[in-house]
Amino acid sequence: MPTALISGITGQDGSYLAELLLQKGYRVVGIVRRSSTTPYERISHFVDKVELLSADLLDQHSLLEAMAECKPDEVYNLAAQSFVQTSWNQPVLTGEFTALGVTRMLEALRRVAPEARFYQASSSEQYGKVVETPQSESTPFYPRSPYGVAKCYGHWITVNYRESYGLYAVSGILFNHESPRRGLEFVTRKVTDGAARIKVGKSRELRLGNLDARRDWGFAGDYVDAMWRMLQKDAPDDYVIGTGTTHSVRELCDIAFARLDLDYRDFVVQDPRFFRPAEVDILVADPSKAVSCLDWRPQVSFSALVEMMVESDLARHSQRP
Ligand code: GDP
Repeated sequence: MPTALISGITGQDGSYLAELLLQKGYRVVGIVRRSSTTPYERISHFVDKVELLSADLLDQHSLLEAMAECKPDEVYNLAAQSFVQTSWNQPVLTGEFTALGVTRMLEALRRVAPEARFYQASSSEQYGKVVETPQSESTPFYPRSPYGVAKCYGHWITVNYRESYGLYAVSGILFNHESPRRGLEFVTRKVTDGAARIKVGKSRELRLGNLDARRDWGFAGDYVDAMWRMLQKDAPDDYVIGTGTTHSVRELCDIAFARLDLDYRDFVVQDPRFFRPAEVDILVADPSKAVSCLDWRPQVSFSALVEMMVESDLARHSQRP
């Protein structure tokens, strides 16, 4: 039974990946940060099937200990300060977790589990002010936020450890991926949750930023499967994962509200507080390498994704008073 170690197991991707690996018969160990509350909402339905170790991406020693204790065959580094907007308010902390945290993970792996395979969660935000469209593995990076800058560091340190120490280390450059488990601060979940709240009478309006922003949005469950596939190849390499199509925030609103028989134009208000100091350009993936080398394809369409999220939020809000 292979062992996988996941940092960020309590997050959206960590929870889907843990489920996938449990189905495949892995022993799954998750790294969790100590806190006074238990953030296990996303993993509560399988928490008895995984092992949790206390460690922190800011603490080198704790990562060495965790890796020595669980002896992983595969390590997935999914932990990060992952919200772009917050990265302007906390740029240094974002760098600690999202950039230097990767080096700490790689150092721990190099010292105590050098045979383990390593996955780094890179991001389409690294393309930012895009140099070419669509973006592939060879497109140069031009990040547009402290988060994007930190992710570029994480990407390159992973490539460097692969080339310098011969580690099996890969970087998956994932475009936006969403689900009913997406954090409420991200625009997809903010819209599906907001529409559901309006439907059940808990809110009267939804305040958003730039409705013309476009993203290449896919389903997180499809994307964790790509992560696993990357670690099963003979040789380590980097891959872009996305759908290759974009939609606007306005289209997102239209589908989400229409699913509830509402017209978004009656409820959505644009609010300058949610506009960003800098926007990325239109990010759109060229996933052809993943399609040909990993035999990976997205399974869930954009409208099916949005409807899945709306239905989940409506069910939640209908249950709780
Ligand atoms: P990101 O791609 O990781 O930054 O994902 P987000 O879901 O946070 O944002 C996606 C896009 O939606 C960005 O271009 C935002 O400017 C835009 N957007 C418009 N209104 C909002 C809002 O109210 N909240 C968030 N998070 N994004 C918004």
